Amino acid sequence: MPVPASDHPAVDKYAKHINPAFVKLLGAFGYGRVFVRATGARLWDHEGREYLDFLAGFGAHNIGHNHPVLREKMREFLLDDVPNLVHVGPPVYAAELAEELARRAGPLTSCLFSCTGSDAVEAGLKLARAATGKKTLVYCQNGYHGLNLGTLSTNGVARMRELFEPLLPACEQVPFGDLAALERVLSKRNAAAFLVEPIQAEGGMVVPPSGYLRAAQDLCHKYGALLVLDEVQTGIGRTGTLFACEADGFFPDVLVLGKALGAGMTAISATLTTPDLQKRAFGTMERFDLHGSTYAGNSFSCRTASAVLQIIDDEKLAEASKVKGTRLLQKLNARLSGHPFVRGIRGRGLFVGIELGPTEKGGLLHRALPQLVEAVSKHIFGQWLAVRLLEDGVIAQPASQHWNVLKLEPPLTVTDAEIDTVVEKIGKLLDQYREVGPIVRDATERLGKQAMGGWRFG
Ligand code: PMP
Repeated sequence: MPVPASDHPAVDKYAKHINPAFVKLLGAFGYGRVFVRATGARLWDHEGREYLDFLAGFGAHNIGHNHPVLREKMREFLLDDVPNLVHVGPPVYAAELAEELARRAGPLTSCLFSCTGSDAVEAGLKLARAATGKKTLVYCQNGYHGLNLGTLSTNGVARMRELFEPLLPACEQVPFGDLAALERVLSKRNAAAFLVEPIQAEGGMVVPPSGYLRAAQDLCHKYGALLVLDEVQTGIGRTGTLFACEADGFFPDVLVLGKALGAGMTAISATLTTPDLQKRAFGTMERFDLHGSTYAGNSFSCRTASAVLQIIDDEKLAEASKVKGTRLLQKLNARLSGHPFVRGIRGRGLFVGIELGPTEKGGLLHRALPQLVEAVSKHIFGQWLAVRLLEDGVIAQPASQHWNVLKLEPPLTVTDAEIDTVVEKIGKLLDQYREVGPIVRDATERLGKQAMGGWRFG
């Protein structure tokens, strides 16, 4: 007999000791499940139900869950008796990983290690200020770079920032994809850096106009600033090349990696730059220790990350992402185009977003009350679709800053059949809902049921 999700001991403990509001929200939305097993692109919950994972730990599990080769390498490490942290000598495996990254990153052959994406972005911002001696940090509307105070200062969504203000001074926001606005700020402010994602992920899977990033870098150089490219989510094969910038045929001044570098198994991130910029920022004995942290570059994480890079190469997973991503986009377009609530399908590689919301074909209610329908679609559609998909065995989430864009980012090891299954499940579900009324009714009935049940977790 399976235990109800709410009786699973983790639910109560997590609510009691970590985040009660999150558990309540999961229950309210109908996410009441505890996930207990994972392999490849599949997860199983406490009742043994199987799911296709098109979230992949927010884009960290690029090589799939519990990859057998990685697991073996991690096991080997644990049996090897090597020191994980020492701090009074050059760490052996950090040096090896840095060389592996340098081999792949063009002119960016210097590396700072951190543990999280946020820390690595922040390292990039510190590096830019230290190397240029300038202060202003330019960032994009709707950009997302993490939640520590430094990266929050460059977070393009006011709700995330406001409670924590005052944040860093001298941070200037520009619209994503707008070179004229960027030049206006760069020409007026003595900027150290322009921080940008190659494809805005949490901001709604927004692909910039072609040539934008290279032109942005040219502008940065014209005004003495650095381009800091945040590839925490797009890096490590996700968009069809090892780094997304390679598709644009350039390398930024600073390239930030996280998430999939540790394959979702260990927290490791990296900030890559040129030796010249490294030297200008931190290259003296007075400055050598201005960035670092206890676990940064620990042997276990570095050996794991080196193995991840090898697996990505050996299994040609970046190339696979390109081919399978094209399949995913084509199949989604064929299945969903013309649907009155699908505004657009976009992305690159296995990094795809479906923008939901009424189109001009969106029905009577949309024509009568466009603002209401717009608001509902912004706040409800994405989560509603995600929960319905979960019930049908698919894990996916809306972009965290744009709930009307459903993100699809499965492990790069996903099969064609798994892609086709998910496309068909999305298609079948949306086939049933071609008017906004029934979606709102279904969503409110579900919320009502949860409320009547006292917001039980599951
Ligand atoms: N940059 C980008 C583009 C991200 O998507 C994220 C995480 N979603 C981060 C930075 C922050 O990474 P972390 O959560 O590991 O701190």
